[in-house]
Order: sequence, then structure tokens, then C-alpha cells
Amino acid sequence: MNQCILLKSVLHQGKVVDILIENNRFKKIAESIEPPLGATVISCKDKAILPPFYNAHTHAAMTLFRGYADDMPLMRWLSEYIWPLEGKLDAEAIEAGTRLAILEMIKSGTVFFSDMYWFREASIKPVEEMGVRAAIGVTFAEVLANDAAPNFKFLRDHYKDYSDRVQLAVMPHAIYTVGEKLLRECADIAEELDLKFHIHLAETEGEETRSLTSTQGKSPVRYLESLGVLSPRVIAAHAIHVSAEDIALLREKNVTVVHNPASNMKLSSGIFPMPGMLRAGVKIALGTDGAASNNNLDMRESMKFATLLAKVAYQDPELLPAASIFDMATVNGAQAYGIDAGVIAEGKLADAILLDLNNERFVPNYNLISNWVYSADSRAIATVICNGKILMQNGYVEGEEEIIAHAKETVARLLRL
Ligand SMILES: [Zn+2]
Repeated sequence: MNQCILLKSVLHQGKVVDILIENNRFKKIAESIEPPLGATVISCKDKAILPPFYNAHTHAAMTLFRGYADDMPLMRWLSEYIWPLEGKLDAEAIEAGTRLAILEMIKSGTVFFSDMYWFREASIKPVEEMGVRAAIGVTFAEVLANDAAPNFKFLRDHYKDYSDRVQLAVMPHAIYTVGEKLLRECADIAEELDLKFHIHLAETEGEETRSLTSTQGKSPVRYLESLGVLSPRVIAAHAIHVSAEDIALLREKNVTVVHNPASNMKLSSGIFPMPGMLRAGVKIALGTDGAASNNNLDMRESMKFATLLAKVAYQDPELLPAASIFDMATVNGAQAYGIDAGVIAEGKLADAILLDLNNERFVPNYNLISNWVYSADSRAIATVICNGKILMQNGYVEGEEEIIAHAKETVARLLRL
């Protein structure tokens, strides 16, 4: 029998309607729908429905490093603090950290994340169990692990093994941690298996300088282009230190870039060139980056950071209006990873959040998206739905107490090692 959820009297694009979800898709949106036999009916009086967030760049298990080291430059932060502690991580810790991350994401309205990390099977398990979507990275970094062969084998053996909510993705860490030959091989296997290719790119000035000196004057973007790597399957995190020519190239090759405003500001990596990217028509999605450099995975907060950062950096109050950053945080992220969702419409995958319009930050409600981007916080999220299943109802996620207790125990264990 078909699984049905009927959302009764929900505010959708300025009108109160009924929305029927059948299995994992929105089946019908109409003024009034009779509940099919056996349907779960949810009364949505004073609730609004919106697409949830698609976090296009993060490192989920790094929730375990939240607040461990702050207020220093990227390379020092990585080499003196993050990498040594990461060295102690095992599969059990990654699973506990990923579970904590997913809990935080569900509670803040995110149903998908792109995860560049280690021990992919330990990350996939909580994704499958907790009902969210993810692109799980098979991560390459020659500075940390010289032998890429097991990664390629894993991709070939397992890329079709998971549910329709989980995709494997090829994730070379960055151009300064992965050499030329391996970058090409990563692009080849992504092409062969039809997977996304996700990389940190042009994040810091140091990366740009290094690229210019070690590749006979090529910028990070130009360097990847010279390797034949850039294509519509490439999703580049950060893309801060880019020239007008680089931006034109990103557009020409149909690359999606992921803006991570909180991480970029906290690590002082630089300012994302929003006007140039928008003018060129580059596809832009939004990410939080890891909780070690943010320090949370709250996409709503990142929307506000992104738009305020753009306005102050470019002295233009009209730059990046609420509706534009909302699209980047929702439908653009879904599209970048090939997920047929991110809008509430008949036929689309049934991913949604229900917002409580009696929350004080939604009063008055002249403009729902404006309130959501600039005023509200996660407390207003009553319900989270992913793939036609309810993941959070009345603010509660099943098993949340155990997830938090286990994350605390895991951190205590890691610090003892
Ligand atoms: Zn990152």
C-alpha cells in the first residue's frame, strides 16, 4: 500500500492549501484534498511549508571538534590542532560525530549534506538510519594516505550499494593535498561511474600563491582546467581567490561553487566574489563547512551571514536579496547534487519543513522568506520531512538523547587517547 501523508491547511506560496505526499513525492497540492484511506493527517494551522536546506559542503563528524581550537589561521589551525586530533578518530567516533551532526542538521531544517571525510561507511550508517540524504565522500589526500587504490576499489564495488538517499562522491581534498595524476584519475572515475566530484578550491591566498608558483603561473581554477578536470559534475567549495577569468571559466564549464560564509569569515580566508559570480551566472550553492570552523551546521544562519557579508563587503544593500540566498541554500544545492527536490511542487521529492507562524520571530509576517532569512531561528521549525518520511515532529527527533550522550562519551574517550 502507498504511504500517504496529508498536510491540512498549510501556508504555501501565500495561500492556505492541502498537500498530499504519496510515498516519497508530492502527489497533489490543492485547495482541499480528502484524506486517502490510511493516510497520516497533519493539521498545519498556522504553519508554513518551505523546502528544507541542502548543505553543499561540510565535514559532518567534525562536530566532535566544535570549539576545540578557534581564532587562528587555517594552516596553523589544521596542522597544530585539527589534524593531530583527527589522527585519533576511529570508525566508532566518526559514526558518533556524524550522528550528532545529522541530529543538528535535522533540528535546523537540513535534509541533505555533502560530506568530505574519512571512514565513509561509518558516515553512511547514520545517514541510512536517520532518514536524511547525503553525498558521502570517498576522500583523497596524498599527504595523509599515499595509496589511492583502495578508494578506487571502494567506489567501483559500492557506488550502487545504498538507498536512493545516499550517493557516493569522488572527493579529492584540494589541489595542495592531491597531485596532478591523482586529480586526473579522480575526474576519470567520477565520469566513468557518473558521480559528483567535490573539492576545496581557491580557499586561501596561500593556496593561490602556491598554485601560481608551482604550476607556471596558473591559478587554482586554471590549473584544474589544464588537467581537464572541470565539468558540470564538479562542485568546488569556497572559490574565493579567483580572477574574472577564473569566474568565466567556472561558468563556461558549468561548475557549481559552494559559498561557506561562516567558515570563510571565521578563518579569515577571504570574501566570496558574489557580484562577479552572479554577473557571470555561475551556479552557487550554500554550505556550512565543518563545525570546527563555523561552529555549527545551521544553514539558516549561514544564509543570513552570506547576504550580510555580501552587502557590507561590496557596499551594496541590494546585493543578494533574501529570495536569492534562499534559493542557493535550497534548490541550488539539491540541483548541484542531482536531487529532484528543493521546491514544494507536485511530482518533486517530498522534502519539506513546516514553520510555526506563531513563533514570535514570524510576527508580523509581511514576507515569509524575509522572516526566514533575516529574523527567525531554528526554534520555529516544527516538522522536518525527507523523502516522504517525518524525521522531526514538534521539534523532537527520535533517539536524540542517546545521540547526545554517545557524542559526549566519544569526545571524552578521544581526549584520553
Ligand atoms: Zn571544508
